[in-house]
Amino acid sequence: MAHSADDDLIFIEEDRSPDNIADVDACWRILIVDDDRDVHEATEFALSGVEILGRRLHLMHAYSGREALTVLEREPDIAVALLDVVMESDDAGLKTVVAIRQDLMLLNLRIILRTGQPGQAPEADTIARYDINDYKTKSELTHSRLYTTLTSAIRSYNQLQRLDASRRGLEKIVAASNQFIAEKGLHSFAEGVITQLASLIGIAPEGLVCAASSDDEDHPEQFRVIAAAGRYSHLIQQRLEEIDNLHIAQSLNQALRNHYSTVGSRDITLYFRKNAEEGFAAYIESAEPIREVDQHLLEIFCTNIALCAKNIDLVNELRRDALVDRQVGLPNRNALVLELDRRLAEGAHNEVVALLDIDQFAATNDMLGHPYGDALLTATAQRLRALFDNSVFVARVAGDAFALAGQDRFLDTATIQRLFAHPFLIDEIDHPVSVCLGIAPLDGCSNGQDALKNAYVALRRAKALGIGQSVTFSPEIGQSAREHTLLLRDLRIAFERRELSIVYQPQIDLASGKVIGAEALLRWQRADGEFVPPDRFIPIAEQSGLIVSIGRWMLPEVLRSLKRLQAAGHEQLRMAVNISSIQLRQPSFLDFVNDSLAEAGVAPELLELEITESVALEGLDAMVALLDKLRSQGIRIAIDDFGTGYSSLNYLARLPFDHLKIDRSFVLSMDTSERGARIVRTIARLGSELEVKTVAEGVENQEIGQRLHAFGCGAVQGYHYAHPMDEASLLLWLAEHR
Ligand code: C2E
Ligand code: CA
Ligand code: CA
Repeated sequence: MAHSADDDLIFIEEDRSPDNIADVDACWRILIVDDDRDVHEATEFALSGVEILGRRLHLMHAYSGREALTVLEREPDIAVALLDVVMESDDAGLKTVVAIRQDLMLLNLRIILRTGQPGQAPEADTIARYDINDYKTKSELTHSRLYTTLTSAIRSYNQLQRLDASRRGLEKIVAASNQFIAEKGLHSFAEGVITQLASLIGIAPEGLVCAASSDDEDHPEQFRVIAAAGRYSHLIQQRLEEIDNLHIAQSLNQALRNHYSTVGSRDITLYFRKNAEEGFAAYIESAEPIREVDQHLLEIFCTNIALCAKNIDLVNELRRDALVDRQVGLPNRNALVLELDRRLAEGAHNEVVALLDIDQFAATNDMLGHPYGDALLTATAQRLRALFDNSVFVARVAGDAFALAGQDRFLDTATIQRLFAHPFLIDEIDHPVSVCLGIAPLDGCSNGQDALKNAYVALRRAKALGIGQSVTFSPEIGQSAREHTLLLRDLRIAFERRELSIVYQPQIDLASGKVIGAEALLRWQRADGEFVPPDRFIPIAEQSGLIVSIGRWMLPEVLRSLKRLQAAGHEQLRMAVNISSIQLRQPSFLDFVNDSLAEAGVAPELLELEITESVALEGLDAMVALLDKLRSQGIRIAIDDFGTGYSSLNYLARLPFDHLKIDRSFVLSMDTSERGARIVRTIARLGSELEVKTVAEGVENQEIGQRLHAFGCGAVQGYHYAHPMDEASLLLWLAEHR
């Protein structure tokens, strides 16, 4: 066996004389085929007592081509056929050759043709095509001639057989490796090694596998039996020294300490090297002499199996990973579910699971960089772990979401929120953090998944309320979450059935009183005639992502509508379309808008996209770049619902836009609240400072319109001027207000 310096695998060659490694059937079988009995006798005489390559010969007899085929079909492992050419017919011998190779598919059998007269020799190409290995006249039947001819035939037969065995062995090794991929732990793996090794060398699976025992940290040098099969089964888990058979103990000990393998006549000890220090050893013994097995194969087997063992370690590591979040060193979501299952199985009285989500984490990450975001997550993890004792299970369940499971008296809203009352010190800067909190009691949950789902429902509620909010799950909340799910299902169906429609609400320039454009708004009318308000179904469409598909249908529809209005003489009319943040974040959004414009044949200047500041929450820089690109093409951008939700002057200062829309809630409050009026005036002033036009929506009477005009507001939209209406009504309305 080859041995190189960087190779721990050494096979110690034992005495490999043929007596030592004897074959189960230790003679060469030779078939004599001739219709002349004298030839049989002469051959038998010439070969009596002969040994070739250490084995005696076993002669078999057939007296016609047909009989030869019957024998060959019945008897396996015949090495050589001495075949007469002329028997029952002139070419009976050649026909037999064809049948041997083509019908019986005996490709390793060596064929020596013999003929009475030299003239009966077959053509050279026949000899080649049917792999006839030698050709002799019967007069050459002397002892020495026959001996050399047979020796070379048997040698090549033997080589072909070994090649076949190698190929089958390799196939077994490949199959073994495949099976090991599915193995779960080292023990069943080791048992598999015994089975596979036994099958490779063709004996019953009886043997031992030993490895350094990992659970004995005081004695790392300690080896134990990790798998035992057959009559060794009782040795399982024993220490190497405890094995009652000295020969086996020594063989394994040598293999493990010196990293080498030995092949004996009745046993094999293989060392499998996992890395420079670590490996394991298998001992396998056979009552019968072990069939000669190619050492090369054993070497391939060892390397392959060692690789598989390494994979098992990897898989185990992956399993550990499956339960631990490496980044912050806390259990992960899978581990949490298992823990909740465990607590539920133990009764879980007065226990809850709390989910907390860091407010505006994506935006923070974006503004201050990922290393900062990572540091914040680690700091949060550490604070949570440090502030609770071990009765509270702390996990990280998603990017910026953490979970706590334990007694409700430790995990009430106030206690958890108080953890975030003081800021986090990161890079020597105080960073105030707020979280949204969703808490769900474990009582009444059928499993951990369920409890976690409830906590998510509560958390989603809390997030919808704004930053720093907490919600505790209740059956009512569960009910509304279910309604939400049902509504989403209905919305999908309605969209597919084309039951959504578009209405248009005119926008009027306050200075000139002229109609400058319209805002497109979605409508959903159920089959029973009931309208579902957009404020109800749009958030659901956004959360589920369905708004993307709806938008892909709506924008081209709106632009075609605009094209028809242009054809009716309203060439300057502009269309405003509401675009959700998730739509903007589609990588194909820009192409989609351009394609829609081109398809409808509408100038980009006549399209306005209404977005909210919240688009900046997930990646301000990318959003600025996108809006810049849209505006450079002439498309207008309006900031919608300004003053509600995630308002931040920081975003307003950096987002490129053309129009600022004052939310209808402020405009509607002008009638009754002086404070509302002041907010509207402030936003209108902000608009003129930023040199953008302000558009007020929700104008329900003339007086409000006049006051807005006085505030410097540029345009208005509201029931006082026009309700949203379908395309046909808009056409009529426009004709009246030209
Ligand atoms: P929004 O974008 O702020 O739309 C203006 C809303 O104010 C519309 O409600 C409109 O009907 C309403 N409105 C107009 N004038 C008056 C008025 O004088 N008084 C009152 N009280 N309300 C008035 P709508 O159509 O119910 O839409 C509600 C919200 O749904 C919209 O608010 C918008 O955020 C969303 N939405 C509607 N259509 C779409 C759409 O196609 N895509 C997206 N992403 N969101 C849409
Ligand atoms: Ca709008
Ligand atoms: Ca609005």
